[in-house]
Amino acid sequence: MKHLLEDLRSAAFPPRCGACGGPLGACELGFCGACAVTLLTPAPGLLRLAKGRLVAARALWLYGGAVRDALVRMKHQPSPAVVAQLAELLALECPTPPRPQGLLVPVPSLPLHWLTRGFSPPQELARRLSRCWGWKLAPALAMRGLGHGQAGRGGAARRRGQRLRLKGAGARQVEGRHLVLLDDVATTGATLREGATLLLDAGAASVQALVLAVVEPLPWR
Ligand SMILES: [Zn+2]
Repeated sequence: MKHLLEDLRSAAFPPRCGACGGPLGACELGFCGACAVTLLTPAPGLLRLAKGRLVAARALWLYGGAVRDALVRMKHQPSPAVVAQLAELLALECPTPPRPQGLLVPVPSLPLHWLTRGFSPPQELARRLSRCWGWKLAPALAMRGLGHGQAGRGGAARRRGQRLRLKGAGARQVEGRHLVLLDDVATTGATLREGATLLLDAGAASVQALVLAVVEPLPWR
C-alpha cells in the first residue's frame, strides 16, 4: 500500500531536479543536465579501524555542487520525491553487493533532528535502497544523547568521544550477517568507523560503508 501511494504521489508530482528544483527531462534522473555536470565520483577505499581492521568504503559522489544543494534541500525541506530519486541513483550506481543477502544499517540521526525534520535522511535512503536490493533494513544503531552537544552522553562515552550505541536487539540482529552501513554524508569518517566497530564487535560477518557523498580529503584510502 505504501509503495502504491509513493507511485501515485510521483505520478501526481512529476520529478524535479534534486538540486535546483527545476523540471527534469524525460531521460534525466535526480538531477537536471546543468546540475548533473557538477557530480564527481570519488575512488572507493578502505577505512581503517582500531586493531588493524579494515572496512571497504565508497561514496556515490564528492560533496559539493549539486550534491551539496540536494542534501541541504533534503534536510531543510524534506521531500519524499528528492529522497526517492537520490536512493534510486544510489541503487543504480551501487548494485546489490555480490554476497549472501545482507542487512542495511542506517547511521542514526540525532533525535533532535529527527523530531524537527520529521524524518531521518540515512534511514529513508536505506529504506528505499533495501527495496531495490531486496535486503532487510536493520536499524541496529542509535545515537547517544538528544542533540549536537555532549548532553545525554554518559561520562565514559563522553571521554571516548562516542556518539553511537547498539540498540537493545542490535547485537542479536547483526550477528553473523553481512552488513552495509549507510549514511548520507561522511566528513572525517569518524561516525562510520565507530558504527563499523560496534557492528563488528557485535559479531557481524562483514561490514561495508556506503555514503551518498563524501567530503574531501577522503577519510579512506
Ligand atoms: Zn538542476
